[in-house]
Amino acid sequence: MNGCVFCNIIKGEIPCKKIYEDNDFFCFMDIKPISKGHVLVVPKKHCENILDFPTEASKRLVEITKKLATIVVKAVGADGFNVGMNNGKAAGQAVFHAHLHIIPRFDNDGLSSWPGKDVTEEELNFIKDKIVTFL
Ligand SMILES: [Zn+2]
Repeated sequence: MNGCVFCNIIKGEIPCKKIYEDNDFFCFMDIKPISKGHVLVVPKKHCENILDFPTEASKRLVEITKKLATIVVKAVGADGFNVGMNNGKAAGQAVFHAHLHIIPRFDNDGLSSWPGKDVTEEELNFIKDKIVTFL
């Protein structure tokens, strides 16, 4: 897609630190890494987020993520990793071409999304009941 940074990276018009490429996916180092070894798994075909990512490509996405996470963890000596995807500006998505983050984690690295907030059982029930009405 014209004007898309990731499409331009995939076309080779913008340099990147590529670590893997096949017919459908392109993987490179995040230029603003959250941790050492933070990489992005990007489908070559432009789609904005997980909602328009083709379901039939999901198996390959998981396979590549597992393969790369295993390699990255070994390469940087990580103790674990997070897999994340930001969907929408409010969720922190900065490039609107779907991509998945592999973020190596190290014991006591200070990064934290968990534990989450404390909520009451009533709050949990309220949200749960609201969500299931949309199923
Ligand atoms: Zn794109």
